[in-house]
Amino acid sequence: MTLVSGWAVRSIVMAGAHSLGANPFADTDDQASLRQLARDVAERDLAPMARHWDETEEFPQGSWDAIRKAELFGITISEQYGGMGLGDIEAAIVLEELARADVSSAILAQLIFNGPPRAIQHLGTDALKSRWLPMAASGEALFCIGISETEAGSAVGHMRARLTEDGDGFRLNAYKNYVTGGHKSRACLVWCRFPGSAGTKGIGAVVVDLEREGVTVAGTHVKMGLRGTSEAELAFDDVRIDPEDVLLRGDASNNDAFKTLISHINHERCGNAAMCIGAAQGSLEYAVQYMNERKIGDRTLADLQGLQWKIADMSVQLEGARVLLQRALHMAGPHGTPPALETALAKTAANLAAKFVCDEAIQLLGGYGFSREYPVERAYRDIRGLCIGAGTVEVQRNLIGTSVLRGQAPASNGWKQYRG
Ligand SMILES: Cc1cc2nc3c(=O)[nH]c(=O)nc-3n(C[C@H](O)[C@H](O)[C@H](O)COP(=O)(O)OP(=O)(O)OC[C@H]3O[C@@H](n4cnc5c(N)ncnc54)[C@H](O)[C@@H]3O)c2cc1C
Repeated sequence: MTLVSGWAVRSIVMAGAHSLGANPFADTDDQASLRQLARDVAERDLAPMARHWDETEEFPQGSWDAIRKAELFGITISEQYGGMGLGDIEAAIVLEELARADVSSAILAQLIFNGPPRAIQHLGTDALKSRWLPMAASGEALFCIGISETEAGSAVGHMRARLTEDGDGFRLNAYKNYVTGGHKSRACLVWCRFPGSAGTKGIGAVVVDLEREGVTVAGTHVKMGLRGTSEAELAFDDVRIDPEDVLLRGDASNNDAFKTLISHINHERCGNAAMCIGAAQGSLEYAVQYMNERKIGDRTLADLQGLQWKIADMSVQLEGARVLLQRALHMAGPHGTPPALETALAKTAANLAAKFVCDEAIQLLGGYGFSREYPVERAYRDIRGLCIGAGTVEVQRNLIGTSVLRGQAPASNGWKQYRG
């Protein structure tokens, strides 16, 4: 072991005292411009309508049109198919900014950035890419993902959706639950069992054109939050699946395809975390402004130390989650997939931070915080759904706990010598 001498340590500390290092996760100039564009769209077009979408439960068409007009849908799709060919960091920047104004609207972008088009971009054939990616990049169509079933949510390996042989292709029979945007989408990425599948072996995925015969929207869920984007129940009754519709073929002798699909969900989990951070940021900023304006006698709320501590605790949680997310995104690199453990840490921290921050923002606004006239109660209801979607907080904790107990350390220097 090499020890740094006392003199060397003093030199390092002194150097640090005089020069403030840059934020290692700071936006580049291009990323800062992208953030500004997304923020402009969010403040101009999303924020004024957010309450309307929430109260009416209408599909946020105005938000869709605004994101499309700003040409933001193509962020993660390669230039060859009309996109910008950017990665998870840029996707997270846009999602954070959109969710700061309205999470229901941000989810539309999440479905394109990190949903089926992303899976097609990374795992699909040229035929799948040419068929679907231009539509996604231009904002011509929405896409949805069908994994969950009534009796297979967290326990996804219990899914019943299955393919049977049909000439050169298959027939799909499935009932998918909680499909975000399923009632408005043109295509759905359906996770399903290939012939001979048992357990997680043989689970793969197909891209289903929802205009095909045998597909029905069986209903939509009535929810406490995220009321602009409905979650649909989709029934697939003997739907023809052509060989070109197969994204990832499940092989009944192993679970390789299933493992690839699960690891690809890390994109969606990071997007989920980014939306939580955006919603929490919006609520924190709203509370700060309110505290500076609201007078109790001759003092503002901002003068009360007990409430200053709330802002401190909210900031600690929010920034902690933000740094964990940045690490996962940077580890993915421009075109890779964020690693599972660091993604689970980021999603858990962001879900819990958003729950805490949005809840405290309501408290800081007093009775007004509880009123639908103010945006913080909506943010709280919206992020509750994000703590369940894309793998619940408990499922993330399972992954983190078992990884650490088996000796798989998170990517931090302090864990280097760790042996489980
Ligand atoms: C807003 C929203 C959007 C969604 N969008 C989609 C979508 O687009 N596509 C899609 O396929 N699905 C979607 N879902 C479904 C979501 O993925 C499931 O709800 C989630 O995986 C949990 O499954 P479940 O509801 O069946 O709950 P269950 O799996 O029954 O879990 C119930 C409770 O038990 C806990 N639990 C379960 N198993 C364990 C375990 N092993 N250890 C510890 N705790 C456990 C869970 O964390 C939860 O708290 C969405 C859900 C929501 C709320």
